[in-house]
Amino acid sequence: MQRIEGVIRPYSWGSRTVLASLQRRPWPSEHPEAELWFGAHPADPARLPGGDLLTAISVDPEGELGASCRADFGDRLPYLVKVLAADEPLSLQAHPSAAQAVDGFARENAAGIPIDAPERSYRDAAHKPEIIIALTRFDALAGFREVGATVELLRALAVSQLDHSVELLACQPDSRGLRTLFTEWITLPKPEVAELISALLTGCVKYLGGGEARFRGEVRLALTLGERYPDDAGVLAALMLNRVVLEPGQALYLPAGNLHAYIGGAGVEVMANSDNVLRGGLTPKHVDVLELLRVLDFTPRAPSELSPSATTVGPEIVFSTPALEFRVSRVRLDRTVPNRAPSVELDARGPQLMVVTEGTITVRSKSSGTGDMIDIPQGSGLWVPASNPVIVVGTNTPEAEFFRTQLGEQTSGPSI
Ligand SMILES: [Zn+2]
Repeated sequence: MQRIEGVIRPYSWGSRTVLASLQRRPWPSEHPEAELWFGAHPADPARLPGGDLLTAISVDPEGELGASCRADFGDRLPYLVKVLAADEPLSLQAHPSAAQAVDGFARENAAGIPIDAPERSYRDAAHKPEIIIALTRFDALAGFREVGATVELLRALAVSQLDHSVELLACQPDSRGLRTLFTEWITLPKPEVAELISALLTGCVKYLGGGEARFRGEVRLALTLGERYPDDAGVLAALMLNRVVLEPGQALYLPAGNLHAYIGGAGVEVMANSDNVLRGGLTPKHVDVLELLRVLDFTPRAPSELSPSATTVGPEIVFSTPALEFRVSRVRLDRTVPNRAPSVELDARGPQLMVVTEGTITVRSKSSGTGDMIDIPQGSGLWVPASNPVIVVGTNTPEAEFFRTQLGEQTSGPSI
C-alpha cells in the first residue's frame, strides 16, 4: 500500500477555496480548482512516491488489480475517484448504457470521426455510472420530475409563451409527453429559444415577487441558469428536472440515461472509468441532439429513487448501487466519543483506493504490527493493491473521515 496524491483539474467552474483548504494550502487559490482526481486515468493518473498509478498498474497488473478484477475489466482500474468542488453549474448531461457505448463507439469509429474531435460523443466503449456523496450542501438537477408537478410549476410561472407546452404535458402526463416537449425545445432555433427564455425570466421575477413559496428553489435556479445561458435550450429542459439538494453525507446515484447537472457544492464523486458524456445544454460545447435523444430515459422519477440505500457497518456507511465497477463507503473515526472504535479493519477482494477528507488516518498491514505504519493527511489518498493483506486504519487526530472505493458486487441495489 502507498500514499497517493491526486491531481487538480483547473476547470473554470471550480472553487478557489474548497480543494485548497482540503489540502491545507493557502486559499483562495490562484486559479479555480474544480476536481481532484485519484485514479489511473491516462489523462491525469494519481502520483505515487516514485511514479504514478497508471504506470504501476501497467508494470504489475496482477499484483495491483488482482486476477478477478483483470478478468472482469481488463488491465485497467475500473473506477475513477474525484473530489469535486463546483462554484458554478456544470453542463446538463447523460451517460450511455454499456450496450449503447459499445454501439456508439463502433459507429463513430466507422464514420472516421477522430477520437479527440469536439463533435465526438463516444471516446471509449464503456458505460459511466456515477455516484456523488456530498461533502457540503450540494445542489443538482437529476432525472425528470413527476409530470403533474412540472405542469403546476409551468402554470405557476404564468408565461403565455409556455401555454402550449403546459397543455402538451397536461394532455400527456408521462414519459412520452416529456420526450415530445424535450425534443421540441432542444431542436428549436436559437432565436426562438432566446425569446422563450426571455419570457421565462420575466415570469420567474414575477413569481419570486409574489408570495408563493412552493417552487421558489426551482424558480431561482431557472433565473440563474437563464441569465447565464440566455439562448441555451438546456435552461428550458432544466424546468422538467428534479431539483435535488444533498446534505453532507447524502448521496445521488446516476444510472445510464439519467439527465443531470451539478449546480454547486463539494462532494466525492466515483464513476466507472469512461469519458462518455452526452451533453444536453448549459454549455458552449457540442450538443449531439440525436444521440442524446437515443440514450435519455424520460421516465419520471422521484429524487428518492436516485438516492442509493446505505448500510452501516461499524464506522463505515456503504452505499449500494448496481455498478459493478465500484462500491463506495464513507468511514468516520471519532476518538472523542468513549467506546467508539478508534480503528477499523478493512479487507477487499480487489484494489482499494481511499481519499481522506478530514483529519489524518494511520494505516498499517494487519500482519505486520506497526512496522509499516503510514500517515495519510486530509486531501491525500491511499492505494491498497489487491495483493495487499488486510489493513487496519486508525487516526491520530480527534476525528477523521475517509472515502473508500473498491470493486462493486452484484447486490440488491436500487432497481434503476
Ligand atoms: Zn455525469
